[in-house]
Amino acid sequence: MQPVTRFAPSPTGRLHLGHAYSALLAHDFARARDGAFLLRIEDIDPGRARAEHVDAIFGDLIWLGLEWDGEVTYQSERLPLYADALERLRAAGLVYPCFCTRADIAASASAPHGPGGAVYPGTCRGLAGPDLSLPHAWRLDMAAALASVATPLAWIGNGVEVIAEPAAFGDVVLARKDAPASYHLAVTVDDAAQGVTDIVRGRDLFAATHVHRLLQALLGLPVPVYHHHALLTDAQGRRLAKRHGAPAIADLRTGGADPAELVASLRRGELPTGYSLGDA
Ligand code: GLU
Repeated sequence: MQPVTRFAPSPTGRLHLGHAYSALLAHDFARARDGAFLLRIEDIDPGRARAEHVDAIFGDLIWLGLEWDGEVTYQSERLPLYADALERLRAAGLVYPCFCTRADIAASASAPHGPGGAVYPGTCRGLAGPDLSLPHAWRLDMAAALASVATPLAWIGNGVEVIAEPAAFGDVVLARKDAPASYHLAVTVDDAAQGVTDIVRGRDLFAATHVHRLLQALLGLPVPVYHHHALLTDAQGRRLAKRHGAPAIADLRTGGADPAELVASLRRGELPTGYSLGDA
């Protein structure tokens, strides 16, 4: 079977070298195996996604010489798919509406922390007669979800079997008050719908795979193979981020960098001065 990989940026800022590295690895994985490399714009966060960043992503990838196959997909155009998935989980009694604000959750003395941040204390679980005309999110009932699938759930990550342990995430949000799907739901549904066989992405998204694997089991979706790569860090050893002043690809371009040289050196594992690779 020919592999299908994807680069799935959120258009909430300009791409930096870490994104370029990730896109390059996903691109090369597919190209080396005569597979397909897809581009999916993850633009369902209404507060943060911007059209100007989408155009900049295209420009950066073209400048780097990373051509994608087929039409670009936009999560904002696929909302009915996520609604269907949510409806299936709702019909199975595995999600519940949650009316809490961030402040309510933060104020909960018992809110422990899990791999994805504060674990929801379960305030709205089992509410009798919730008023769905009020703004609400939908949360996965983690205990019920785990009880409904055959465990252990596993995936192949970087060549070894990993057992999924999503319980520590608690009742994750699958649809937000302000967005009809969360990252976890949209990414899982899309990777399956687009036939992605191999997910090449940064190590920062390794933990989320525990939740994605559970959603795949609940929705009866195929399980791709995962390849989580090391993250680029700056001279201070920090993960590249706009807030730490990581230069954008656009800055490298206007600074006169040669994209062919840049990509060739990234392929050799050589990074520009001041950058290094963290742990895989
Ligand atoms: N959209 C996510 C991000 O930009 C990446 C999603 C993924 O690769 O699973 O961080």
